[in-house]
Amino acid sequence: MHKTHLLIDNQDVATDDYLEVRDPGRTADIVGLLAQGTAAHVDQAVQAAHRAYAGWRDTPLSQRQALLTQAADLLAAEGPGVAELMARESGMLVPTNKAEAGMSAAIIRDNVDLATEFLKPLQVEDEASWVSVEKRSIGVIAGIIPWNAPIILTMRKLAPALVCGNTLVLKPAPTAALGLSALLKKIAALFPPGVINVVHGGAEVGTALTTHPLVRKVSFTGGGAVAKAIMKAAADSIKGVQFELGGNDPAIVLADANLDDVIPKIVGGVFRRSGQFCFAVKRIYVQRPIYDAFFEKFIAEVDRFKVGHPLAEGATFGPVNNRAQFEYLQGLAERTRAAGAELIELGSKLDASTWDDGYYLLPAVVKHAAPDLEVVVNEQFGPIIPIVAFDDVEEAIRLANDSELGLASSVWSRDADQAVAIASRIEAGMTFINNAGTSRIGQKNSPFGGVKQSGIGRESSEVGLSEYVEYHAINFHK
Ligand code: NAD
Repeated sequence: MHKTHLLIDNQDVATDDYLEVRDPGRTADIVGLLAQGTAAHVDQAVQAAHRAYAGWRDTPLSQRQALLTQAADLLAAEGPGVAELMARESGMLVPTNKAEAGMSAAIIRDNVDLATEFLKPLQVEDEASWVSVEKRSIGVIAGIIPWNAPIILTMRKLAPALVCGNTLVLKPAPTAALGLSALLKKIAALFPPGVINVVHGGAEVGTALTTHPLVRKVSFTGGGAVAKAIMKAAADSIKGVQFELGGNDPAIVLADANLDDVIPKIVGGVFRRSGQFCFAVKRIYVQRPIYDAFFEKFIAEVDRFKVGHPLAEGATFGPVNNRAQFEYLQGLAERTRAAGAELIELGSKLDASTWDDGYYLLPAVVKHAAPDLEVVVNEQFGPIIPIVAFDDVEEAIRLANDSELGLASSVWSRDADQAVAIASRIEAGMTFINNAGTSRIGQKNSPFGGVKQSGIGRESSEVGLSEYVEYHAINFHK
């Protein structure tokens, strides 16, 4: 049985309590045991990170970069080896997990590359004085991670934090910690003890981390409710927070869009990871003249999904990750139907005889969804997508912006000028045109994050690095 302990000072630390991690596709199966930490373990881990801090901060940048490059190589080589374990604990498909390891290695390399210029001080001088504005590390950072893309979302914190000279205590999500922790243990061994520590657990461990006085900043990816609790917890010791939260990302499809090209991309943008990713397309606005044509082609594409266990041959769509998510989505589908909307279930059950053994849902599409329907105005974070008709562009922009969330968004059109003009009016941290995600140079250079209640601050790019430094201004009077 796979057993994962805490990792403090590069040592395995056993605890009194181990969580049975269940396979969301076969809930009777225990995939592994996950140590559950306590506030005392959090203190041990934070003290270890604090002891390691001065040495790591003073390690030359080139050496920090060299070690992180080794970490990227390790992840690229060994990440695919945990893809099946990750599939069993999280429900995500094996190819998705393999791709995640490669993308995560690229995230590390991007941060290593950008840090050289970014960390240079800004210096100005006149006859009276000189000024040097230096970027300094902050100290011990707490990284709190959700279950839906655990390696990517960890590396988006680990790489900028470490390259800037901080040390880390990480808390993965209990339903996606086993594969990630196996990799983190190997990565941590490349670094001095205490630079990377991992404490497992739920809200109790999270609270111990976010209230610990030696934790200088909390970087959190997850839902809005936990973010509010973290902000309050962090207030007592005036910690900085950086939040990547949920989205309710609109896709605006204009009448001139090339449907054969855009539909497979939008379907991927909605249903990858069974709809469980923050910048998934979560509501689609289609201009009325093409609504019916769009709808027919869209449901034909969605209908190709084969829903089943991620290790089963032929599965192209896995279960959702956990019971709470499963029950919320079932309830949402029921309420959508009860509100009179037409919810169409598509795709097929790969193995009907084992369907009830896991958290399986067929992908579902809501036809002619009213703009104020619950599934339109709230983040579903799962495989139900509403498609709303609109008449003119002003109406589409108004509907897109009528939300407390503002993570990503997308515009689909053959008219580049019009698409860019619309993009610039959307209240979101990111807008993709004619795709549902970032390109390779977009990943490196675009600040990733949202406005309004989708977050505070950004990850990736130089802006992401800036989350992990303090500015120290030195002014010398001649
Ligand atoms: P969640 O907020 O329930 O949990 C996230 C993490 O917080 C877990 O590790 C959890 O154990 C921990 N936690 C729980 N209570 C805590 C507390 N009181 N103090 C500190 N930590 C605590 O989120 P989830 O259900 O795992 O993820 C789904 C949400 O995350 C969705 O809303 C999704 O949109 C969002 N998300 C955002 C991004 C992004 O980059 N913007 C990426 C992925 C997911």
